[in-house]
Amino acid sequence: MLAKPLGMSRFTLLLAAYFVLVINIPLAARLVTILQHTEGLSLGMVLSLPLFFGSVFYLLFSVWTFRYLARPFAVVLLLASSLVSYAMYYYGTVFDMDMIRNLVETNPGEARAYLNVNLALWWLFTGVVPAIIFAVLPLRSQSLTRELGSKLFSMTLAVVVVLGIAALYYKDYASLGRNNHELNKLIIPTHYLYSAGKFVSRTYLAPPRAHQALGEDALVADREHTRKKRLTVLVLGETARARNFELNGYPRPTNAFTRDLGLVSFRRVSSCGTATAVSVPCLFSRLDRSDYDPALAKTQDNLLDVMQHAGIQVRWLENDGGCKGVCTRVPTKAFEPHQGEPFCEGEYCQDEVLLGGLEAQLAALEQEDTLIVLHLAGSHGPTYNQRYPEAFRRFTPDCPRSDIQNCSDLQIVNSYDNTLYYDDYVMSRVIAQLAEQTQWQTSLLYVSDHGESLGENGMYLHGMPYALAPDEQTQVPMLLWMSAEFSSTQGYDGGCVAQVAAQANLSHDNVFDTMLGLMRVQTGIYRPQQDMLNPCRQAALVAQADRSPGASPALDGNRS
Ligand SMILES: [Zn+2]
Repeated sequence: MLAKPLGMSRFTLLLAAYFVLVINIPLAARLVTILQHTEGLSLGMVLSLPLFFGSVFYLLFSVWTFRYLARPFAVVLLLASSLVSYAMYYYGTVFDMDMIRNLVETNPGEARAYLNVNLALWWLFTGVVPAIIFAVLPLRSQSLTRELGSKLFSMTLAVVVVLGIAALYYKDYASLGRNNHELNKLIIPTHYLYSAGKFVSRTYLAPPRAHQALGEDALVADREHTRKKRLTVLVLGETARARNFELNGYPRPTNAFTRDLGLVSFRRVSSCGTATAVSVPCLFSRLDRSDYDPALAKTQDNLLDVMQHAGIQVRWLENDGGCKGVCTRVPTKAFEPHQGEPFCEGEYCQDEVLLGGLEAQLAALEQEDTLIVLHLAGSHGPTYNQRYPEAFRRFTPDCPRSDIQNCSDLQIVNSYDNTLYYDDYVMSRVIAQLAEQTQWQTSLLYVSDHGESLGENGMYLHGMPYALAPDEQTQVPMLLWMSAEFSSTQGYDGGCVAQVAAQANLSHDNVFDTMLGLMRVQTGIYRPQQDMLNPCRQAALVAQADRSPGASPALDGNRS
């Protein structure tokens, strides 16, 4: 029924051609845009591009299209590359090592949020059907020497083509590459395979490291004092971006529930990464963004461990599919959608589930200094509409689907703003719970892990390599609330805090030491210059509160 059997060279050529013509549509689209804005290009150079990429693919594929390996190789490569192509084309996703890490560390529920009919159809027609065709293409049986001989010949031919193009258009190619560094990241499958290889070797093949304890000398500076115990809630947001917060000047009432609660909003805060798998471990790590190393962070005590060293009770309430290793040594309660909790349905729980969780924790905890982390599902896309209940559809029309490229940008923004509006309500209820506490003095710090693109410059979602990422993905909201008692007993100067919030350039790097300062943890690894609130604790009051053995950590600038 099918045509006469193919030699391996033709089989490989077909595969390479398919990658040039179909799988690399995102690259082609970008090249068209670039070439339209490039002057003085020769027609020959433009026409040589598909030939160049085809020859390079041919060479790479030839190494694998050999005997019994050829078909499985083609099938796996097609199935995976078609998905990469979809994400790149519709969402501008770049498959660097961090993105591979996100994929590997994503939980099934989160992954299902990306499934939709559009994706299924794309995969079917550009991945599955071609894979079936390549799986059943009749191959000519050849002797080993013949097969090797013909492979050698055709590979030499491909090298000649590449060299020929280089000889003719070297300058054009060089300037195209120099002016558009991101281009190599768009080539499928080379870039994602390279990133995956790098991820595997860094993550699984690196020699295991011994766990490194940090801050074992930690203690709460005024632990001996007769005072109310401190209770701080750290709310870890998901995918909330700074510019859509009303508290930061956004013209919509996305902070309708908290705007009158006396929260301070820090205006200029940048995230450590553009994706959860990078930002969350980095945020809790003592490492800064500049020297952040995921493997090191994983094998080092983090902020929560240091808090526990200081004798502070730490609890983690999880509603975002995982803490990325941060809460490994901390008592954790994860909300699973199938446990019949209220606010849980299908694949996810909405963030109100955390309110009951917090209440239960507070009832069960001892009257000790306490830190509770609430990890919000927040604004995780692309299914923004599943993050908020019907009653919080404040901005309409929203986008009721996960293939968000089929919604208008206005619908997408509406859905996204609804998630912020809903989480603002949840935050207001958390603050209400804290304000009611008579046994504790309470405070709350909210910070989001990274931002989100909502169609600006054709970009959606998040996870761009940091150097290329727009502000929408890296500028995050950070909010602080303190009860009057918490603020006054520790001598916070409200004017100073407001000034820091309005003017200081802050980042996730500041969270580690700010949290230590907030809980009055004294340790040799505390860096007062990184504690954004350190300048705002009034020396006299703190010293008075500390009139006991040891100096205040917050005031001892020589400790770091
Ligand atoms: Zn995230």
